[in-house]
Amino acid sequence: MSARGGIDLGGTKIQAIVFDEETAKVVGSSRRPTPTSGGPRTVADAMAAVMNDAAADAGITTPSLLGVGVGSPGEVDADAGTVARAANLPGWEEPFALGATLSEQLGAPVSIGNDVSVATHAELVLGAGRGRDALLGVFWGTGVGGGVVVDGHSWRGRGAAGEIGHMVVRRGGARCPCGRRGCMEAYAGRRAMEERARRLHKRGRKTKLFEIMEESGRTSLTSGVWERALRKQDGLAVELIERAIAALGAGIASAVNLLDVDLVVIGGGLGVRFGAPMVERISNAMRPHLFVDERPVPVQLVELGDLGGAIGAALLSADRTVSARVA
Ligand SMILES: [Zn+2]
Repeated sequence: MSARGGIDLGGTKIQAIVFDEETAKVVGSSRRPTPTSGGPRTVADAMAAVMNDAAADAGITTPSLLGVGVGSPGEVDADAGTVARAANLPGWEEPFALGATLSEQLGAPVSIGNDVSVATHAELVLGAGRGRDALLGVFWGTGVGGGVVVDGHSWRGRGAAGEIGHMVVRRGGARCPCGRRGCMEAYAGRRAMEERARRLHKRGRKTKLFEIMEESGRTSLTSGVWERALRKQDGLAVELIERAIAALGAGIASAVNLLDVDLVVIGGGLGVRFGAPMVERISNAMRPHLFVDERPVPVQLVELGDLGGAIGAALLSADRTVSARVA
């Protein structure tokens, strides 16, 4: 078996898979919650443990993997194998040698890339973007991430391209988790929506959101909580989701006006949870903002679901052109 490992490092969970290159199939997988304290070393230990579990699930051990790829948030230096300023991860400010640390624990070479960019690449190679040259991936979750493929290659700019969540949809608008105002993420990011829901609820606005959260044994408004609240026609949930869709429509359409991509794919925790009907609503919200409106860009749900990030990471480990490998 020509097996590669892929690890998707998220703010809430770590997902690992074993990917068989010959059949292009996932042959083992495992996931666990991301540690909420302890710093990068603790997170790296958890990542190694999840990768070991995924390998066991595939009936192999990690030293037999041809390589392991990691999709990581934060500032990724692929050549150095380091990650810095990983927001949503505990105590992770300074550059940490994630590649070398994991490689030592797993006994396999490790490559590191940006989480959203590898997930977009996976959609290009194996998912909804097969056969396309230019693709915009929008990952609607805790924040709103973006991946850009132009002429068949991921566009990384000077290292920070694709930050579609910080497209300004309203000058002087709502405060964004990034500290600026009016970003798309300030309206559509799960974290920003939760902050607004809590603020309005405290001021006396009626909503079932927090009851549903408690009933589900959650401490935050997860995508599942939003889905249940929408199903119950909760007024505040409906209003905040409509506000999010309007912002996504304006921001994504603006990006399309600039790039004229062949396809937009929507993924992320909220995107995957809400599925095709919500993608349709986002597509409709884009319409009024599209400059070339007689041939609107197709907008689709990601095909690889929430394994896309881990599959993209496994593909990264095979692609020597996009990342130096830490042996
Ligand atoms: Zn922002």
